[in-house]
Amino acid sequence: MDFELSEEQMMSRDMARKFAEKEIIPKLRENERQEKFDPGIIKKMASQGLLAPHMPEKYGGMGLDYVTSAVIWESLCHASLAVTQAAVSGPIQPATNLLDAGTEEQKQKYLPPVCKGERIMSGAVVEPNAGSDSSMIETAAARSGNHWIINGSKIFITNGEIADVVLFIAQTDKSKGLKGLTSFIVEKDTPGFSSTPMKGRISWRGGSEGALQFTDMELPLENQVGEVGSALRDALRGIDTARLFLAAGCVGVAQSCLDSCLKYAKERVQFGKPIGGHQLIQEIIAEMATRTEAARWLAYRAADLKSRGVRHIKEMSYAKYFAAETALWAASQAVKIHGSFGTFDDYPVGHHYQDAITATILGGTAQIHQLTIGQQLLEMAAFK
Ligand SMILES: Cc1cc2nc3c(=O)[nH]c(=O)nc-3n(C[C@H](O)[C@H](O)[C@H](O)COP(=O)(O)OP(=O)(O)OC[C@H]3O[C@@H](n4cnc5c(N)ncnc54)[C@H](O)[C@@H]3O)c2cc1C
Repeated sequence: MDFELSEEQMMSRDMARKFAEKEIIPKLRENERQEKFDPGIIKKMASQGLLAPHMPEKYGGMGLDYVTSAVIWESLCHASLAVTQAAVSGPIQPATNLLDAGTEEQKQKYLPPVCKGERIMSGAVVEPNAGSDSSMIETAAARSGNHWIINGSKIFITNGEIADVVLFIAQTDKSKGLKGLTSFIVEKDTPGFSSTPMKGRISWRGGSEGALQFTDMELPLENQVGEVGSALRDALRGIDTARLFLAAGCVGVAQSCLDSCLKYAKERVQFGKPIGGHQLIQEIIAEMATRTEAARWLAYRAADLKSRGVRHIKEMSYAKYFAAETALWAASQAVKIHGSFGTFDDYPVGHHYQDAITATILGGTAQIHQLTIGQQLLEMAAFK
């Protein structure tokens, strides 16, 4: 067991942190106030090799291991989880799905531009009546001669409104439940495809979500990705990578809250001394540091198992579940330590507090991860 980051990993960490401080933080407050994501950040990340660290070089990524990728994601999310997620989500989930299930032609066509930040890709699974339970997916794909005809809708899709291309899941045989789901890829200018922004968020205000509509949308057969009925199986590695991203990102959020509290607790004087000198504040800071460190090692452990190709279903759920809860807890404590100043957006803790609640929902809710862990430990079905 080696608990030290390599020289290269430390360099990646420092580079990503500097990038986030220079490119994300200065615009964050204004963009969050306007509920706006600036897609320009995607190209900037790509130019620094930060957009698709885990993807093979052959398809425009950096070909790095998952621990190094997690270290990079943690450092970027130290500034903003929502902005980083909107920027990297294409290369993380839909691109990984395409890598695993696409034909060589599909991979050559879509992956390099997405991993280099030239085109934006969304991954669309969730619908108004199908959240955690994908067997409820109603978007239907019906075969008609040399085409598929698609009807249905998707919501909460990261970059849904601005995506150039969307990898989505539809049901091709309702009677087969989860085994009747198939993946397709669609370009935004396809007739029958439309998208709208989803505004009014109380959290993730620096991110980007949209709703998609498919109305008698005709897709040629070559836009099918993977085999008929294999969508969920094909999506597993992409879902797992998204979970790792969120686990690492939440560690970055918790660390940022801790850093802010350490600084503030030394500067803010009440009752004749810096508030850090009061033992009740020290208790919170000690707890925050301990939980953050525990979350970090759960995330790195899951990343290491993933890199080595070792089965890690429960370890990824430990990491995502615990890191998201830690980020939410740390952010709420951090706002309290900053007092009323913490409730304004001059300090980073307020925006982390807003974002952290969403981190407990996407990438599998807390309950879904608890059930996954229970199912793995008990070897008993938890979702039926
Ligand atoms: C910022 C953001 C970005 C997103 N990006 C995308 C995207 O790019 N693509 C995409 O497809 N989706 C995306 N989503 C959607 C996200 O994946 C879903 O919101 C998430 O899967 C949960 O689904 P739901 O919101 O419908 O909640 P539901 O599944 O309806 O759950 C509601 C509550 O019930 C609980 N629950 C559900 N089932 C059980 C059970 N069996 N036992 C106990 N409790 C249960 C849940 O834990 C939760 O607390 C995004 C969401 C957000 C907020």
